Amino acid sequence: MELVLALRRAGITDPDVVATMESVPREVFVPDAFQNKSYQDITLPIGHHQTLSQPAVVGLMTEALELDDRKKVLEIGTGSGYQTAILSPLCRRVYSIERHAPLLEEAEKRFENLRIRNVTTKVGDGTLGWDAQAPFERIIVTAAAADVPPILAEQLSLGGIMIVPIGLSDDFRTILKVIKTDHGLETEELRDVQFVPLIPEEATGT
Ligand code: SAH
Repeated sequence: MELVLALRRAGITDPDVVATMESVPREVFVPDAFQNKSYQDITLPIGHHQTLSQPAVVGLMTEALELDDRKKVLEIGTGSGYQTAILSPLCRRVYSIERHAPLLEEAEKRFENLRIRNVTTKVGDGTLGWDAQAPFERIIVTAAAADVPPILAEQLSLGGIMIVPIGLSDDFRTILKVIKTDHGLETEELRDVQFVPLIPEEATGT
């Protein structure tokens, strides 16, 4: 109920998105120490200095993707797998990339337990996209980038939508909705939020 109220407060009205968020058990994605906070509208730590996004932000980004069961979606930053689990019933297939192997292993166990079967994952640098599976009708980036990652824009279908948080400073981050048109990329700002940064491999060497 708390979750539904948070979604309503954030202006999320798409009934399919709201119903899916009600049906996916967030506590499955939350570490033991924070179980009692599973349904609060806050970000929660998932280890490796990463966070599980706030439900209102997950709802906002999911709604903005305008999904249906024909869409192939690329997700960057699997993390706990919570966002992936929300995308799964709303689209045809999700390809999800995570740079931390241990996080991805845990997420894959959760998909197995929840019988989520239309998700394909890999460990890697999501800023490089997933060439073998491109193009994608939808792309969602769940870590903040300095700008729209150019390779991801290339791997987006014409008419496709990419949702990506932009801005590398903690106090200045905004979710961009990018639409690929004949004339290039059209962008719209959705709202300011908190995100951990998107880290290309060459930046850290890890
Ligand atoms: N969507 C996740 C939360 C995202 S936290 C959830 O629902 O739990 C952001 C995630 O992006 C982290 O797991 C982080 O490791 C990952 N990440 C950051 N930079 C990345 C990159 N370049 N490629 C792939 N994953 C990346």
